[in-house]
Amino acid sequence: MTIQNNIQNILTRIDAACRRRGRDPDQVRLVAVSKTKPAGQIEEAARAGQQLFGESYVQEFTDKREEVKLPVTWHFIGHLQSNKVKYLRGKVSMIHSVDRLSLAEEINRQWQKIGETVDILLQVNLAEEASKSGATADATEELARRLAALPHVRLRGLMTLPPYCDNPQDVRPYFSQLRHLSERIAALNLPNVSMTELSMGMSHDFEVAVEEGATLVRIGTAIFGEREYR
Ligand SMILES: *Cc1c(COP(=O)(O)O)cnc(C)c1O
Repeated sequence: MTIQNNIQNILTRIDAACRRRGRDPDQVRLVAVSKTKPAGQIEEAARAGQQLFGESYVQEFTDKREEVKLPVTWHFIGHLQSNKVKYLRGKVSMIHSVDRLSLAEEINRQWQKIGETVDILLQVNLAEEASKSGATADATEELARRLAALPHVRLRGLMTLPPYCDNPQDVRPYFSQLRHLSERIAALNLPNVSMTELSMGMSHDFEVAVEEGATLVRIGTAIFGEREYR
C-alpha cells in the first residue's frame, strides 16, 4: 500500500464512522503523525492532498520542517518541556499536549514575543497512568480557567491518549468521558476559550473516536507504516 492509498482508506473510514453517527465528515480533521518519518514521506503525503502533520519531538520537527518544501501545517502533539517551547514559536498552529499551567505560561510568553496567538489543547490523562503525561480530569476545569487569562494562547479543546486496548471498543468510555469533560468546560463560557476540538483516536481506534465526537484524529502507523525507533 502506498501512502496515498493509506490516506484514502482512512478518509473513507472516517466518513463511514461519521455517517453512522450523523456527523458531518468536514468536522473531522486527519492529523498525519509523521514523527520518525523522513521529509520525503511527508512530501509524498502532501502530494496526496494531506495538509496537516503532527510531530512529537522538538529537535526532529525543527530539522524536518526545514526540509519539507511543500506548504503544510504543523501541530505539536508530544510531551513538551518548557525550555523547548521557544523552538516551536511561530512554527506550529496548535499544541495538543498542554498539561500544566507553567507550560501554558511559557507558550503564552513565547507567542507574545511575535505578537501572535496559538491554539492549544489540554491533554487529559483520564486513566491517570503514571507512564503518560496529562492533567487529571479533576484538575482540568481549574486549568482551563487559568488558561483563559493568557492572551497569547487560545484554549480550543481537549486531547487524550487513552490506555492501549487490543479491542478498540474498550477505549470508547475514555473517548466519551473526554467529550463530557469538554462539554462541562464549554458550559462555563470562559472568555477566550472555545471548546470545539476533541483530539482523540489513533491508528487502531480512530473509528471509535470519531463515533464519540473526535474532531482531530492523530494517525501515524496506518499512514506511514510501523516506526522503527522510539
Ligand atoms: C505517535 C502518536 C500518535 C500516532 O500513533 P499511531 O498508533 O502510530 O497512529 C498519536 N498521538 C500521539 C500523541 C503520538 O505520540
